[in-house]
Amino acid sequence: MFVHYLSLALAALSTARLAVAVPTSDAEPEFELIRRQGLADVYSSCTEPNTVALTFDDGPYIYETEIVDLLNKNGIKATFFVNGYNWDCIYDDSVIASLQYAYNSGHLIGSHTWSHPDLTTLSWDEIHDEMWKVELALSRIIGVWPAWMRPPYGNYNDLVRSASAIRNQSLVIWDFDSQDSDGASVQESEQYYTDLVNQHPSNVIALNHETYQTTAEQVLPFAIQALKAKGYNFATVAECLGGKPAYHGVFSPGTKDSSWTC
Ligand SMILES: [Zn+2]
Repeated sequence: MFVHYLSLALAALSTARLAVAVPTSDAEPEFELIRRQGLADVYSSCTEPNTVALTFDDGPYIYETEIVDLLNKNGIKATFFVNGYNWDCIYDDSVIASLQYAYNSGHLIGSHTWSHPDLTTLSWDEIHDEMWKVELALSRIIGVWPAWMRPPYGNYNDLVRSASAIRNQSLVIWDFDSQDSDGASVQESEQYYTDLVNQHPSNVIALNHETYQTTAEQVLPFAIQALKAKGYNFATVAECLGGKPAYHGVFSPGTKDSSWTC
């Protein structure tokens, strides 16, 4: 039954045209995946009080395991919005290992598209292709269909939201930016976190990038201590939005073969 569903879903998702002519059947609840229509929800803030969702974009990359170790040591669950082929190829053995480690440690893995384009510049089919390829990789490597998508640069339009809705995903932006990808120094990013805790908002979705050694080894340890000292709890984006599902499909991952290529 599951294999049946998976193969149909894979076939359907790879063909954007099915987005407007999806098979529906009340007897096949699994087709919820491709039945949902309208515009995807867009979240830029958490709803749970006193909660911080740390998010890490643009991986998987070489600092991911180090970040996961630090999070685990602090009892923190966070969210990684990963690409398929950006700083590294998601199918490299070392990348597979770090991604599986992050997932198995309980961190939420979301989509950040395959190659990190500005989705608002793409056609309907191109948007689906960018989404589909990283979803396939996540289904193979960790056995999930992501429910959460962060559009690169935070850029989206109704076409992106429509494609995301069909793919049963919500969009997550942020309300705090460490600016590590905008050239901020360690001191500047740390100051932004200091300013944040001084402002003491009820909750935070914090944007970080796992692709900088300084983020992994300097800014993140500082941020965790500063946020903990202020009494914040830490959660994934699904948890901080009131306990929504982390994924819309969870199953056994696959085994690497010659088709796992970037
Ligand atoms: Zn990004």
